[in-house]
Amino acid sequence: MASRPRDYQLLCEAIDGLPGIGAQAAERLAEWLVYRGDVGQLSDILTRIKHSEHCKHCNRIQCQQDCQSGDDAARFFVVTSTEMLLEQLSMLVDYCGPLFVLHGELSPANGTGPSQLCMDDLLASVEAFPDASLLVLSSDSVEGRTTAEYIFRRTGRGGERVSVERACEILRGHD
Ligand SMILES: [Zn+2]
Repeated sequence: MASRPRDYQLLCEAIDGLPGIGAQAAERLAEWLVYRGDVGQLSDILTRIKHSEHCKHCNRIQCQQDCQSGDDAARFFVVTSTEMLLEQLSMLVDYCGPLFVLHGELSPANGTGPSQLCMDDLLASVEAFPDASLLVLSSDSVEGRTTAEYIFRRTGRGGERVSVERACEILRGHD
């Protein structure tokens, strides 16, 4: 039997290494990408992302400069574990205050520690808002709760771990 093309195999393995995919879905994606998909567009986007700088203040790519300047009396500092949670919050409330996206949650079992989540940058970012209490949007899981507890302990700030809905209530109450 003919062996698989090497780059096809490498692509399968690379996709299989992404969270939440699995070997069979990785196969389907790889085959579609190689033989039917628009690999050029995907490759262009990935190349741009690879060369994008992470903003030290909010930990997102392609952030506008000085994203959090001008409001050092902010009452709240929003931390979300994912871009998706921030997106959900943005759809419900017009929040323009300081924020930070972790892009993950602490999980020793998966090798995700404080440095993978840029916790030092988060601490420095929070420091700039001495009056702000923290609203931490993380999943309702062991990892999500551990992440929130870690942030409260390290920053020494008050606040609470919140759902998107609860964050909206709190933020609206102070409009
Ligand atoms: Zn930023």
